[in-house]
Amino acid sequence: MNTHRDHISHSRKKGRVGKRGHIFIVSAPSGSGKTTLCRALMEHIPDLLYSVSFTTRPRRNGENEGIDYYFLSKEEFEKGIKEGKWAEFANVHGNYYGTSADILDKGLHSGKDILLDIDVQGAEQILKRYPESVTIFISPPSMDALKQRLEKRGTDSGEVIKRRLKDAEKELARKDVYRHIIENDKLQKAVDDIIAVVKQYR
Ligand code: 5GP
Repeated sequence: MNTHRDHISHSRKKGRVGKRGHIFIVSAPSGSGKTTLCRALMEHIPDLLYSVSFTTRPRRNGENEGIDYYFLSKEEFEKGIKEGKWAEFANVHGNYYGTSADILDKGLHSGKDILLDIDVQGAEQILKRYPESVTIFISPPSMDALKQRLEKRGTDSGEVIKRRLKDAEKELARKDVYRHIIENDKLQKAVDDIIAVVKQYR
């Protein structure tokens, strides 16, 4: 097992020791540009840690273990459930995804702010555990735009895209759970908006 440092990507070295960090939760339907917006946050916000999730989903081309996700088997994930290892976990589009409780707690106690890229089921669980978490939902301009982006991305099969679009409707229906909603119509505007939201809390 790796140490917690291995699980969290550091955007900058300095921390705020003695003060507990904020949790920023970013959720969005698949294909809403969330990864791009999270990357922009990591580049523009000093001292922000990205919480690398664990998943049973197969690794995509170009994804790296410990950077994009920790990839593990269904059995390993379910063992983690029994052992209470996850701060939150959910079945998303047919695979398990989860955040390690230990890694999250250690990150927060180091005084740094942490960015979680998780779905709405996970967001609700984190809010129960850390009610002061800042929640941000990224909304696609339309279902059609989402479909086009997923097809253009070319990372998922037709079957997977269909499932993700169906799930997107359910996710959009729950966006009121979130404190901030950002519409990703024009990318640069969405980048500016999400940076402004995070800066409000720092
Ligand atoms: P993807 O397979 O496209 O990387 O991610 C699919 C969905 O799973 C995204 O909506 C993403 O936010 C969500 N997700 C990623 N990691 C986690 C996690 O640790 N917990 C939960 N609940 N959802 C996650």
